[in-house]
Amino acid sequence: MHNLLYLARVTSIAASKTAIANSRISSISRQFSSSPSAMAPITKECDYLVIGGGSGGLASARRASGYYGAKTIAVESKRLGGTCVNVGCVPKKIFWNAATIAETIHQAKAYGFSVNQTAPFDWTYFKNKRDAYIKRLNGIYEKNLGNDKVEYIHGRAHLTGKNEVEVVLDDGTKQTIKAKKILLATGGHPTIPQNIPGSEYGVNSDGFFDIEKQPKKVALVGAGYIAVEFAGVFNALGTETHLFIRHDKFLRTFDPMVQDAIVKEYERVGIHIHKNSSQSKVEKDPKTGKLTIHYKDATGEGKLENVDDLIWAIGRSPEVEDLGLEKAGVKQSQIGQIIADEYQNTNVENIYSLGDVVGKIELTPVAIAAGRKLSDRLFGPEKFKDSKLDYDNVPSVVFAHPEVGSIGITEPQAVEKYGKDNIKVYNTSFTAMYYAMMEPEDKGPTRYKLICEGPNEKVVGLHILGLGSAEMLQGFGVAIKMGATKADFDSCVAIHPTSAEELVTLK
Ligand SMILES: Cc1cc2nc3c(=O)[nH]c(=O)nc-3n(C[C@H](O)[C@H](O)[C@H](O)COP(=O)(O)OP(=O)(O)OC[C@H]3O[C@@H](n4cnc5c(N)ncnc54)[C@H](O)[C@@H]3O)c2cc1C
Repeated sequence: MHNLLYLARVTSIAASKTAIANSRISSISRQFSSSPSAMAPITKECDYLVIGGGSGGLASARRASGYYGAKTIAVESKRLGGTCVNVGCVPKKIFWNAATIAETIHQAKAYGFSVNQTAPFDWTYFKNKRDAYIKRLNGIYEKNLGNDKVEYIHGRAHLTGKNEVEVVLDDGTKQTIKAKKILLATGGHPTIPQNIPGSEYGVNSDGFFDIEKQPKKVALVGAGYIAVEFAGVFNALGTETHLFIRHDKFLRTFDPMVQDAIVKEYERVGIHIHKNSSQSKVEKDPKTGKLTIHYKDATGEGKLENVDDLIWAIGRSPEVEDLGLEKAGVKQSQIGQIIADEYQNTNVENIYSLGDVVGKIELTPVAIAAGRKLSDRLFGPEKFKDSKLDYDNVPSVVFAHPEVGSIGITEPQAVEKYGKDNIKVYNTSFTAMYYAMMEPEDKGPTRYKLICEGPNEKVVGLHILGLGSAEMLQGFGVAIKMGATKADFDSCVAIHPTSAEELVTLK
C-alpha cells in the first residue's frame, strides 16, 4: 500500500514536471518576446513555492527539488542565505573570531611570546574582507539552487490566494505563480523602540554589521544572546562598552548558573552593565555625530555622552507585514507569528511555515532541519510520511566571552517538571589549564552543570560555560538526544587534559 502511494506520488511528480517544464518554456519565451512594460503579467506554475531564501526556505526548496524532483521556485527579496548568512550567525561568528584573536594576542605574552601590535585593529579592512566573504557565500547559495534545479526569483512575494502568489520583481513588474504547495519561510526582522525620542539615532542588529569604523564608545540595549555576543566582541576589541539591561541579569532564558557566571565575568572584564535600566531620550550632536543617551538604572538617573554607536538588540518581529496572510486566511499568533503545528502545517491546507516566522526556536539549524523534514514528508517516499522535526533537546550556544552552551532544561524547569526530590544536579567550577600560565586577572571562568532526573539519572539538562564550550556541546548533544544517563557519561573514559573531561568525571 505504502509502495503504491509512493509510486503514485512519483508518477504525479514526473507528470507535473513535464507539464511544468512546458509552461516554464512558454513563460520564458513570453518573458523575452516583449519589453517588460508591454508584457501581460507572467504566470508560472510549480509544485512547491518557497517564499524566503533564508536558512529554512533554501533547505526545504533544495530538498524538494534536488532529492525528489518537485518543480520548485524560491523567491527572495533581499540576499540569498537570509538572516544567518548576511546579518546573523556568519558575520557574527567572524566577528567573534576576531575578538578571540585579540584576546589570544593579549594572552600570548603569558606563554613567552613578545607580540606587539604595531597598529590598532583594522576594522575597515576586516569589514571589507568579511563582506566579500559573505558576497561569495551569496553566490554559492545561488549556484546551489541551480545545481538542485530550483528556479530562483529575486522579488517580493505575497499571497493572493490559497494556491497563488504574486511576486513584484526588482524592475516593478509582477509575476503570478500558481503553486500546489506553498512554504512561508520569511523569517523576522529586528525591532527598535518606537516610544523613545531619538531612538532612530541607534541601529538595530542589521545595522551593527554596517558600522564602518570601530567605535571608541558603544552602547547596546538588550539582554538576549545578540546583545551579549556583540558586547563581548566590542569589549575584546578594545571599545568602551556599555550594556543596558532591563533587569539585573542577562541571558534570562538560560540556567541561573549561566546567568550569574556570565554577568559576573562581563563585569570583571570591564563591560559597563547598566542594570534595571530604561532609556528616556537619545540626542545626536549635529557637529560630531556623537550620541547622548539619557537613562535611568539601578544607580539613578544618568546620561552617557560621546557614544559613537548605539545598538538596539531588544527583540525581533516576524516578517509578515506585506505577506498577504489574510488573503489566504493564514492564522497568526498575537505577536504576528504564523501559527504552524508540529508538522509545519498552517491552518490552510497546502500552506506551510517554519523557521523564525513561526518563532518556536529561532536558530538556523532548526529552520534547516524543519525545512528538510517538511520536504521529505511532502515530496519524499512513503517512509517519510510522518517526518517532522523533534524540537526537544535542541542544543544552543551563545558566542559570548567565554562561550556558553546549553541543551535540555534548566534547573528551575527541572524542579518544576519533576520535583526537587526527583532530580540530581552536578556542578563543577574550575580554571581551565589554558590559563595556567596567566596572571589571575587574565583567567576566565569555567562552569558546568549536569541535571539528571529519576533513579536512572537520565540527563535532562547540560549547561556549560568556558573555553571551547560551543564545539564541546555538539558531541554531548548526541549523547543526550540518545537518552544518556549519568552512568553513560561516567562510562566514557576521560580525554586528558581537557576541560571536557570534567563532564565525564562529575561527582
Ligand atoms: C545577529 C544574529 C545572530 C544570530 N546568530 C545565530 C547563531 O549563531 N546560530 C544560529 O543558529 N542562529 C543564529 N541566529 C538566528 C538565525 O539567523 C535565524 O534563526 C535563521 O536565519 C532563521 O532562518 P529562516 O529561514 O527562518 O529566516 P531568515 O534566515 O531570516 O530568512 C528569511 C528570508 O525571507 C526573505 N523574505 C521575507 N519576506 C519575504 C517576501 N515577502 N518575499 C520574498 N522574500 C522574503 C528575507 O529577505 C529573508 O532572506 C542569529 C540571528 C541574528 C539576528
